[in-house]
Amino acid sequence: MVANWKMNMDRSAITAYLDVLSREGRWPRWCSNGYRLLLSPPSVYLDFLAAAVRERELPFWVVAQNVCAHEKGAYTGEVSVDMLRDLGVNGVILGHSERRRLFGETDAHVAAKTALALSREIVPIVCFGETETERLSKEHSRVWERQIAPVWKEVQKARAAGSETPVYLAYEPVWAIGTGRTAALEDIREVAGTLREAFGHDCSAGLLYGGSVTDESLSVLVEKGTVYGFLVGGAFLDPEAVLRAFHHLTTHHP
Ligand code: PEP
Repeated sequence: MVANWKMNMDRSAITAYLDVLSREGRWPRWCSNGYRLLLSPPSVYLDFLAAAVRERELPFWVVAQNVCAHEKGAYTGEVSVDMLRDLGVNGVILGHSERRRLFGETDAHVAAKTALALSREIVPIVCFGETETERLSKEHSRVWERQIAPVWKEVQKARAAGSETPVYLAYEPVWAIGTGRTAALEDIREVAGTLREAFGHDCSAGLLYGGSVTDESLSVLVEKGTVYGFLVGGAFLDPEAVLRAFHHLTTHHP
């Protein structure tokens, strides 16, 4: 489960968040049973969070919200994959719709970033999904294929070169992010089916869903066995909601 904090939190809020999560002593057991919490802070707090998680011996992954599509050099304001590696960051969210829409990120950028992340054994969490207009005009499955095709090409190249770093694809319909509307089970099944058909089983195996997930809606989706994991924004700014979600999952799916 990925908590995308977006441009929220500061050092004292992060400490308070970890204080709440530290009340739970079963994290190591849950993680060894296959559950994992990934925390994604703004880049300036990656180092602080990574150090705090290590110090408290919490088995969480620390994940960046973005990375530069270039290795190094004159890219003012950017952060490189080597810098993420240097901080001990485990993964990176790529192609979030806010980055595509507000910062002009293209499918080609997302593919280049995926290749760079894999080359440094940083787990890419690649977001994709259609806008409301694309869904209404029934273009959504073509949009998914267009967004994923260049990424999957890079994944295949990395696999051929020996990379075993996992790749997660996060279906995040733009109309569901931060709106309180979640995709229907059939929509998510359609994504898995489309990806499997277009790119093979491996592509659909690590499918995450994101878009107004709460600890309650998450339980329903898990019950139906639809997805492998979740990317959660607003709801997981509250650490109590994270605890509720893990309590529910580990009780009903031990
Ligand atoms: C997100 O930021 O990826 C997201 C899914 O946000 P929210 O859960 O707030 O819709």
